[in-house]
Amino acid sequence: MNFDDPAEKELRASVAGTVARPGEPGYDEAVAIWNGSITRRPSIVVRCTGTDDVAAALKYARGAGLEVSVRGGGHGFSGFALTEGGLMIDLSPLKSVTVDPTTRTAVAGGGVNWGELDAATQAHGLAVPGGMISHTGIAGLTLGGGIGWLCTLAGLTCDNLIGAEVVTADGSVHHVSEESEPELLWALKGGGGNFGVVTAFTYRLTPVGPLVNFAMFFWRPEQGRDALRFARDFVPTLPADCGAFIAGTNAPNAPFVPEELRDKPGWLLAVVGFGDAESHARAIAPVRANKDLPPAVEDVEAIPYTRLQGMFDHTGPWGAYSYEKAVHFNELTDEVIDIMVEHQPKKTAHLSFTPILVMAGEYHRVQEESTAFSGGRTGKYVVNVTAVCPDRESFETDRVWVRNYWEELAPHAVGKGSYINFMSEYDEDRVKAAYGAAKYARLAAVKTQYDPDNVFHLNANIKPAGSREAR
Ligand SMILES: Cc1cc2nc3c(=O)[nH]c(=O)nc-3n(C[C@H](O)[C@H](O)[C@H](O)COP(=O)(O)OP(=O)(O)OC[C@H]3O[C@@H](n4cnc5c(N)ncnc54)[C@H](O)[C@@H]3O)c2cc1C
Repeated sequence: MNFDDPAEKELRASVAGTVARPGEPGYDEAVAIWNGSITRRPSIVVRCTGTDDVAAALKYARGAGLEVSVRGGGHGFSGFALTEGGLMIDLSPLKSVTVDPTTRTAVAGGGVNWGELDAATQAHGLAVPGGMISHTGIAGLTLGGGIGWLCTLAGLTCDNLIGAEVVTADGSVHHVSEESEPELLWALKGGGGNFGVVTAFTYRLTPVGPLVNFAMFFWRPEQGRDALRFARDFVPTLPADCGAFIAGTNAPNAPFVPEELRDKPGWLLAVVGFGDAESHARAIAPVRANKDLPPAVEDVEAIPYTRLQGMFDHTGPWGAYSYEKAVHFNELTDEVIDIMVEHQPKKTAHLSFTPILVMAGEYHRVQEESTAFSGGRTGKYVVNVTAVCPDRESFETDRVWVRNYWEELAPHAVGKGSYINFMSEYDEDRVKAAYGAAKYARLAAVKTQYDPDNVFHLNANIKPAGSREAR
């Protein structure tokens, strides 16, 4: 603590949460984010318990001329929850979740993660479409878009965002909804952390589970080309109540997997049915009927939705050194598949992998203009080449693997669009290209209204319209 600074004394006296400088209780916990490759160190952290704490932190930071970063779940690939030498607003203490089963809505604090939100909503047989790793924060994921198992049935996470409590750079609190400040609500649906600190999210809920029908098929590396060609022809035949996922990854380390394949690389196809078991069995029948391509592993069972949501947690361990680059496709053409099977085995880290997210159904029905989401609504697959490494040495190697792999995939992509939550680096041109000129200009106008000085710039940054930076 700086005892000579009256502003810091005032900050410490006014917040209900914790203020911590390096060495003080709470600091190390707050700055320990998911991506272990990020080494930035804030000079001060404010662990906020509500809007008043956030406003006090912003006032102090602006007075002291400190850069501001915002931590929701701390899971961002870019690691922009951390500022170097500035002030970090840590929302981890905001853990409250309230579910109203009558109106099918939920309100969740800015520090909640998907495991916590799913547990609360599933107590009522309801869910918000979320991410696929339960220890990811709801905040960053929602603000960037949010792709997961329920995308086909109920759209992106941001498609289900109906309100938010936001503290803007001037410290004022906004209760945003379709009726109140709808343009800000639109911007929060994909525009990232550009407009203020979101202390609470209000979601529309969808009936899900509590049991869902899960099917996983796994093929050996040498079956990769045929497996991917089969998957791209099969996935479009799935009904709207099924979510699908394809990946170049490792087989589960589970008893139903032959010992020699456990945790070994190959190609995975998973199909989750949110309807009845018969309809799911009908949906996956073509995989089982394909005698030319017998999977090396098959697992079909009814599991709790909450287990599905945590099933891949081990593939993204906390503290991993990580890097990724994503690309969107309309089709997995033979050329794209050839690139995948050529590059996938070149990774060095055990957990580095290539998830292929299948975009269908409700995701395509939502109008492009109705959200700020950066990925576009036409693409059918998001391929996210991801390095997940145990140390810096393998991180350096697999970062090159990601870049080389991505360079070859990119010419086959849909436009230049991308999903901002799957960017490790926010190259300005890529952010502009991701949104496209019209959406970027609309976002810049919202930015000008709510954050004209670009206080919130540690993100996929939208420059205020008319600012020198924007030109
Ligand atoms: C292992 C792993 C798995 C993932 N799986 C998926 C997936 O299945 N689907 C998917 O869509 N994405 C997925 N992602 C990407 C994920 O959406 C982003 O990393 C997201 O930013 C994480 O949010 P967070 O709150 O945990 O992160 P943080 O690092 O806390 O935040 C990321 C950024 O969001 C902004 N921000 C965070 N909280 C707030 C707030 N309350 N108010 C204002 N701004 C805020 C800040 O700019 C911050 O830098 C995954 C990421 C990882 C690392």
